[in-house]
Amino acid sequence: MMSPVVNATGVLLHTNLGRSPFAFSQRAAYRNIEYDLVAGKRGSRQATVGQLLASACGAEASIVVNNGAAAVLLVMQALASEKEVVVSRGELIEIGGHFRIPDVLTASGARLKEVGTTNKTRLDDYRTDSKDVALLLKVHRSNFTMNGFTEDVPVEDLCQIGPPVVVDLGSGLLDETCPWLGSGPPNWLRGEPGVRQTLANGASLVTFSGDKLMGGPQAGIIAGRADLVNACAQHPLYRALRPGTLTLEAVESVAMTYLSKDADQLTFWSLATTPSQQLVDRAAQLAPDRVVRTKAVVGGGTLPGAEIPSIGVALPGDQTAELRSSSVPIIARVSDSQTILDLRSVLPDQDPILEVALTALGARPA
Ligand SMILES: *Cc1c(COP(=O)(O)O)cnc(C)c1O
Repeated sequence: MMSPVVNATGVLLHTNLGRSPFAFSQRAAYRNIEYDLVAGKRGSRQATVGQLLASACGAEASIVVNNGAAAVLLVMQALASEKEVVVSRGELIEIGGHFRIPDVLTASGARLKEVGTTNKTRLDDYRTDSKDVALLLKVHRSNFTMNGFTEDVPVEDLCQIGPPVVVDLGSGLLDETCPWLGSGPPNWLRGEPGVRQTLANGASLVTFSGDKLMGGPQAGIIAGRADLVNACAQHPLYRALRPGTLTLEAVESVAMTYLSKDADQLTFWSLATTPSQQLVDRAAQLAPDRVVRTKAVVGGGTLPGAEIPSIGVALPGDQTAELRSSSVPIIARVSDSQTILDLRSVLPDQDPILEVALTALGARPA
């Protein structure tokens, strides 16, 4: 059975553990999901959530599908089927779980036109003489970095070429300035492109996941120019990818949280921005002799290399199997022959579970 676990890995968005921790409760009742209350007849499934999300990220329009992969697939099939999509060879990436950009393009019926090289792609590389180009696609290298002799083309330059620019952002940071965080964007977010800024820089559409940096449920979002978003919503494939009331209402609530600048209340953001001193205090409560500094990561195929300072409890040797067999399984990691329980990814109300397990392992003072 799927059940709650304690994520003591220090990986905030752990794909095996459901990415962002998110809960939403909904009454079993009929809903006006596709019913226009003013006109008294069938309406649009996405009107409200689409508008709320669009306002939250500075887009003209948006729609929600099942996940980020579905968003990319739908955009390509609805807007570029049997036409060419130009992509830099430096961005033909694998996201994980065998999701590869070239394969998705092929599955959508679009033709991939690779340009540039692995490490360098210039604006001129995107200028092809083909009459068949439907889109320029830019894919955020969300899960790896490239250093050294490299070059790529910013969105604002790509927009000079002509065809609509679609950016697969993946991680879905709604706004680089993080207006929902009192103290502004944390250091570890530096360089992460925001949805709002990418659209302001001229992208016609962006696609991203709901359960990465947005901190919501599994979902995929297509946001940008209203005519292009509508073309996606009108395409027959949309019906196969559209979410139901559970997801739509959950995404709606997340969008409202961002609009009221309360997104720091979303569990992901609250874990990510907990002051280290609070983690020190919790670790000292759990096992005062075993408090260690650690480095947590965002994970989930986002922000490669970015580390969030954190605090953990260290146990000698590999005790991960014992921890997994706790009544609420605890997932920890082994580093330098020690078992590390990283508190950055542990929900504070789960500390009593750690307390019981650490007592059983003899790691707490008598
Ligand atoms: C994560 C990611 C995806 C896939 O999104 P899912 O929600 O996992 O389907 C696609 N593109 C990029 C750039 C990503 O980071």
